[in-house]
Amino acid sequence: MPNIVKNTTLPSLLDILAPHSCRGCGHIGNVLCDRCKNNIILENSDIKIKTPKSFPPIFVAGQRIGLLDNLIQDLKYHSVRAVAKTLAILLHQTLPRFESSTTIVPLPTISKHIRSRGLDHTLLISKHFAKIRHFRVEKLLIRNQNTVQVGTDRQTRIKQATKAYSINLSIKVNPNTTYILFDDVWTTGASMKAAVKKLRQAGAKKIIVAILAVSDINQ
Ligand SMILES: [Zn+2]
Repeated sequence: MPNIVKNTTLPSLLDILAPHSCRGCGHIGNVLCDRCKNNIILENSDIKIKTPKSFPPIFVAGQRIGLLDNLIQDLKYHSVRAVAKTLAILLHQTLPRFESSTTIVPLPTISKHIRSRGLDHTLLISKHFAKIRHFRVEKLLIRNQNTVQVGTDRQTRIKQATKAYSINLSIKVNPNTTYILFDDVWTTGASMKAAVKKLRQAGAKKIIVAILAVSDINQ
């Protein structure tokens, strides 16, 4: 038996054995070819999310439609690990430069979902993005139990989100560090708003928000 080291930033054995084809055009080689990736970037070059004045600077890679939506679903619900790196590259190419001491804080996924899917998609994308930019990843936020968002209405989601996160007290928050709070999808923004609040309460002074895809830009 080969000695397989479990490292989430390495491709799985299946990824190595089975070549991927582009989800956009079928071109063999990667889950997203350069041409389709550039199309996503061009289509989404001026997406803005309306946030309150006090909200941190927010950067978005795209809309959760078409190809980008398919890729997110492949990673999240069909556990296609190779997509994580592709999405991290997309983030890298759409987000501006940040200072080198930046730390990425992924919004924590519900542990039940991590168990059933066999991966934590937000953490995986964060790790790949951090590797490209030479950033750190810190799991500063902890997901509280019994705060399920899937399938609930907007008001319930907002209410649940305020109780969704705690600060991981084993990690020290540095007021001089720039923290990028990262989530895959922005729907109502309730989760991210709750996460920003927690991180500020813990002493973070420099926060940036990064989102892979916005569900509905009219929210
Ligand atoms: Zn393609």
